[in-house]
Amino acid sequence: MNKPLDLRELMVDQAELAKRLRQETSGEVMTDSASRGRYATDASIYQAMPVAVFVPKTTQDIANAIRIAAELGVPVLPRGGGTSQCGQTTGAALVIDNSKYFRNVLDLNLDKGYVEVEPGIVLDHLNSSLKQHGLWYPVDVSTSGQATIGGMAGNNSCGSRSIAYGNMVHNVLGIDAWLATGEVAQFANYANSSGAAKQLGDFVKDLATTLTPEIEAHFPKVLRRVAGYNLDIFNPQSELPYTQDGSVNLAHLLVGSEGTLAYFKSLKLKLAPLPQHKVLGIVNFASFYKAMDSAQHIVKLGPTAVELVDRTMIDLARSNPSFKKTIETSLIDHTAQTPEAILLVEFSGEAHAPLLDKLKALQELMSDLGLPGSVVTMPDASLQKNLWEVRKAGLNIMMSLKGDGKPVSFIEDCAVPLESLADYTQALTDVFSKYGSRGTWYAHASVGTLHVRPILDMRRDGAQKMRAVAEEASALVRKYKGAYSGEHGDGLCRGEWISWQFGPKITEALAEIKHAFDPKGLFNPGKIVNPPKMDDSINFRFPPSYKVIPLQPALDWSAWNVQNDPVTEETTAPGTGGDPAMGLAKAVEMCNNNGHCRKFDAEVMCPSYRVTRDEKHLTRGRANTLRLALSNQLDMKDESSPLGSDAIKEVMELCVSCKACRRECPTGVDMAKMKIEFLSAYKKRVGHSLRDLAVAYLPQYAGTISSIPLLPAILNLRNHIGPIAKLQEWIMGISAQRSLPIWKSKTFWSQKESNAYQYTPEQLASNADGKGVVLLADTFNAYFEDENLQAALKVLKAAGYRVHIPHKSQTKKVASESTCSKEFCCGRTYLAAGMVDKAKATLGELVDHLAPYADKNIPIIGLEPSCLFTLRDEALVMGFGERAVSVSKQAQLLEEFLASEVKSGKLNLQLKASDKPVLFHGHCHQKSFAAVTPAMELLKLIPNAEPKLIESSCCGMAGSFGYEAEHIEVSKQMAEASLLPSIRKSPNAWVVADGTSCRHQIADGTQREAVHIARILAAQL
Ligand SMILES: Cc1cc2nc3c(=O)[nH]c(=O)nc-3n(C[C@H](O)[C@H](O)[C@H](O)COP(=O)(O)OP(=O)(O)OC[C@H]3O[C@@H](n4cnc5c(N)ncnc54)[C@H](O)[C@@H]3O)c2cc1C
Ligand code: SF4
Ligand code: SF4
Repeated sequence: MNKPLDLRELMVDQAELAKRLRQETSGEVMTDSASRGRYATDASIYQAMPVAVFVPKTTQDIANAIRIAAELGVPVLPRGGGTSQCGQTTGAALVIDNSKYFRNVLDLNLDKGYVEVEPGIVLDHLNSSLKQHGLWYPVDVSTSGQATIGGMAGNNSCGSRSIAYGNMVHNVLGIDAWLATGEVAQFANYANSSGAAKQLGDFVKDLATTLTPEIEAHFPKVLRRVAGYNLDIFNPQSELPYTQDGSVNLAHLLVGSEGTLAYFKSLKLKLAPLPQHKVLGIVNFASFYKAMDSAQHIVKLGPTAVELVDRTMIDLARSNPSFKKTIETSLIDHTAQTPEAILLVEFSGEAHAPLLDKLKALQELMSDLGLPGSVVTMPDASLQKNLWEVRKAGLNIMMSLKGDGKPVSFIEDCAVPLESLADYTQALTDVFSKYGSRGTWYAHASVGTLHVRPILDMRRDGAQKMRAVAEEASALVRKYKGAYSGEHGDGLCRGEWISWQFGPKITEALAEIKHAFDPKGLFNPGKIVNPPKMDDSINFRFPPSYKVIPLQPALDWSAWNVQNDPVTEETTAPGTGGDPAMGLAKAVEMCNNNGHCRKFDAEVMCPSYRVTRDEKHLTRGRANTLRLALSNQLDMKDESSPLGSDAIKEVMELCVSCKACRRECPTGVDMAKMKIEFLSAYKKRVGHSLRDLAVAYLPQYAGTISSIPLLPAILNLRNHIGPIAKLQEWIMGISAQRSLPIWKSKTFWSQKESNAYQYTPEQLASNADGKGVVLLADTFNAYFEDENLQAALKVLKAAGYRVHIPHKSQTKKVASESTCSKEFCCGRTYLAAGMVDKAKATLGELVDHLAPYADKNIPIIGLEPSCLFTLRDEALVMGFGERAVSVSKQAQLLEEFLASEVKSGKLNLQLKASDKPVLFHGHCHQKSFAAVTPAMELLKLIPNAEPKLIESSCCGMAGSFGYEAEHIEVSKQMAEASLLPSIRKSPNAWVVADGTSCRHQIADGTQREAVHIARILAAQL
């Protein structure tokens, strides 16, 4: 029998392990504390430092790693996306990451309806490859963009549509897996099994036969039970049989085993036809209890999903301008009080008409239940899609609560029979209020698994409250004959509840199974068998001993430095949260490791991970490294500056400051701003390079260069004479493979008429028809592409606007010595070089100049997204106070301004038809601030333009990033991921891109000219 393996006393020779892995495999081996720290957490409250991290490249690497670890007595922990919520992916082990290289489909059999895959393939990627065949793998977990099939099988995951398709255990046909001996065994149909799989199957069968009465008495009879091992495969207790023909499949023993029995090599999965049609009925309830009570009746109509959204979430969505309209499509009367709950009832099938009958049946049912007129019918697919998105976003808003109290997942997937759902939720709500907390309820009403997370502060009294709530919740689960672990697995959080759920005999049998598979107990020890207490603080990510180092950040993070009220969720005043790092640490700690940044969808986050698939190039990897550095958990040589250390440099190296995480991370982790902090600290430590200075001071010297006769032409020779470019690469690290922006003698400022655009705020505000605007002439558009400024002026003037272009010549105040440039500047180039003080001085001047215009509600228009959005973003955390807020409210891109004027009927743009289609590429910052839609709206005003948005992440240029010799290859890969191929596919299209560096990347990569939107609008006037 296994002796509990005390991980804290585990003595392993890490150096020997690493040496052998390097010698005997081709995989990546990591033993430094930062790399291990990035694999120390999953989406749970736990943390455990791995012994080492291994990223294998071949199956032989995995086999060798398992063998080496066994010989050295090192535990092994297989890992997919690391999105588990219960700590099953954390452990003092050799953590082996399958997600980078094991992503292949091995066999697709359309006739027999199965697919065989490697364990690291992500569900969405599998499904997108199956779509062309009209098939899908229907275990649709919410983390479908990150969850790997290996991890889903490891956890016996379940999707929103499990009522129709079942859980993983119902949809896995076979697993080939390495055993602790290193041998590969085939787990599939028991009757046909042989070798080690058969022996293990026979052993489990004997155990199960002996324990038949125990199994029947203790296994909950609900669909959603994922605790322990599936000892019931010979006598299934689930509502839904594990196999359709009643046969026994030994692979089901491994499903839900959390990496504790065997290491999956490949998985054979049962596919389902993609539903051709879907309709949605949304039932509005004035009482939460009634909603819960109705679920048991609704499921009898045969829906594919019944999902709950409660009032808190509806209100959150209604208060968010992006979601308000969509959520209100689900309400019977959006002028009336918000319903206490809505149930999203989905029906799907091959034909549309029968589904409409189902909706009618739902309406009739609700009338019979005393709620006539309570159903909003939604047969339209696009409306349905939007509503599902809002349901997901609601959870994200809830998770973005600032302060140390966080919604904690530990009883969030208890499953109870539907007839008891109303009483269970009522009783648990009472338990929360008893412990001074509150829960927001959502998710899978169809199968009695509602997600709910009370807000707990794990650094203070959270552990005690967690224990108390868990005890009471478990008593309720027992009372209602439910399953304590109904979706997310056991891990560290629910392991101790296995014996509570199943009783001593079955618990003992689980230990025997573990021993039969893994006699030395080296596969993911401490999970399922011999688990620790859920509240052993030594396993916590934020134990009471967690301490942040005192630090003065360069930016103002006080908005994060708050605490919250667990019941009202109100936060204290900015700056009062007690963070020794003045809010920076709390901003970093907002990352809850949900892994959403590992996605590859049509949005942007995270461009560097999309190229390298390395955890260190992921927003999560960066946030974790920062958290560990700020809490002094890394072994560092450069301890004087944890923030500016080499460990942080390594993770920030490929962050292109695209600001995508600011918008797309569910909790709003803003890594672009954190990179500014890093750069500021790092450059203070190591000093600025020549390249930093060249980039940072560009706005200051651009005017001088362009004004010296012949100098622009001489400098431009670099683009034509290879050895000069090579020399520059050698001296400054600017890649010789890149062309540089072309210097001009004739710039916007050198033209006489540029002085004509000078108006005071009063003059603009007193313009009779109120049409006064400020147009920013940024360095790039003024000195390198003045045609864009001229085009913008042409459009604005044609539309009747009086335009003021800021220039220091008309300000009374003399430019300060620190900035000494004649033109205003947003300070972006200083930020890129980590010169925050310089940026503050420069941007401060601009804000001072603009504030009087903003105070008179005069729109402030910019052309270059990275410059303009500095006014909406960084300017707000530089200590400028109210004047920056006022300016930020008026700052907008040209297309945002024009589109809103068109919408409000103030502008009627008459544009000529285009002779070719238009492709639009959004700048990352433009996407981050939701400013792509206005551009598309404007382009649609051009007859025959048929504008198409290129679904691209970052272009890879990202300011100076793509010019840097050490980043040129990654930069090109980012561009080739989708942007450049999409442009090449449309050789005759206009390509429109607002970012100067995006246009440069497009020109370098496709030899096509991309234009600013101002130019296409001006051309079509
Ligand atoms: C916001 C959020 C929403 C979620 N929604 C859902 C949901 O709707 N439904 C649901 O069921 N879960 C959900 N989860 C939990 C989690 O995402 C799923 O369990 C997911 O399937 C885990 O996949 P992964 O690749 O991240 O696995 P990991 O967390 O990496 O691993 C999971 C387990 O599988 C084991 N494992 C991984 N690879 C192998 C292998 N090759 N061989 C043997 N064992 C292996 C690991 O050791 C671990 O024990 C959610 C989590 C979050 C954060
Ligand atoms: S950075 Fe954001 S998206 Fe990524 S894991 Fe953390 S919270 Fe999730
Ligand atoms: S700013 Fe962009 S590159 Fe950097 S972490 Fe965020 S998404 Fe990734």
